[in-house]
Amino acid sequence: MSVETISEEQWKQTQRRLYLLYHELRPGGSRYSYVIGNDEFEQHLDLLAKLREKRDSLWPEITFDDGHISNFEYALPMLQARNLKALFFITVGWTGHKSGYMGWDELRSLHEAGQSIGAHGWTHTLLTHCNERDLETELGGARKTLEDKLGTEITTMSLPGGRYNRRVLTACEVAGYTQVYTSIPRSEPALPGPMIGRLNILGDMKPEWIAEVLRMDSPTLAGLGRQYKVKEAAKALLGDRLYEKAWSLLNRRESDAGDDE
Ligand SMILES: [Zn+2]
Repeated sequence: MSVETISEEQWKQTQRRLYLLYHELRPGGSRYSYVIGNDEFEQHLDLLAKLREKRDSLWPEITFDDGHISNFEYALPMLQARNLKALFFITVGWTGHKSGYMGWDELRSLHEAGQSIGAHGWTHTLLTHCNERDLETELGGARKTLEDKLGTEITTMSLPGGRYNRRVLTACEVAGYTQVYTSIPRSEPALPGPMIGRLNILGDMKPEWIAEVLRMDSPTLAGLGRQYKVKEAAKALLGDRLYEKAWSLLNRRESDAGDDE
């Protein structure tokens, strides 16, 4: 079949994906690297919508981690204005409890607006640090509570801090998750497997750079994949806590931001 004869719908069904990971939006932006300015996010969405029509681009998918209130206040109306859908991963124990994060009313509205919801643990602790009982709360407990409160099946999980090992992945499967989202920057097939890589989008990433990363067979994306492996090796060498400390100094993170990703 030639490229010309493929319909838009067939295109979407066959094209490789790049899943993008966002956290918080803020009017005017921030120096904190995990925050995207509202104006910048609108530019990203316009770009992503345009790239979905281009045959030489990966198909961009949008995800959010943590459940920040800005996802509901700012991202939802911007997505709706463009008829776009995203997947929102929620730190369930923060819902209705932690200031600055969505409550159950916001989450229900998000779900009813046709957006997808997944779990991001109960307390946002790194799952690799959990014992078996904690894993049950972070995974099974988070899933069951989301399902009970939203009345929908929850099958996707995003790993806090992107951290996992074989024990964590087995626990995800036992808890009923069929897809686990990581922070490994790589493209995925149109029908992805059980582990899905994502590119973490930071505040200083310009639309032109994002377009380049999304270009089919982009050497930039391959380079990010290599960088990620080096970072993982450094974490293994230094240990998580020391690594997070060094990383926060390098990335000007806000002191109250927690160890999120
Ligand atoms: Zn997180």
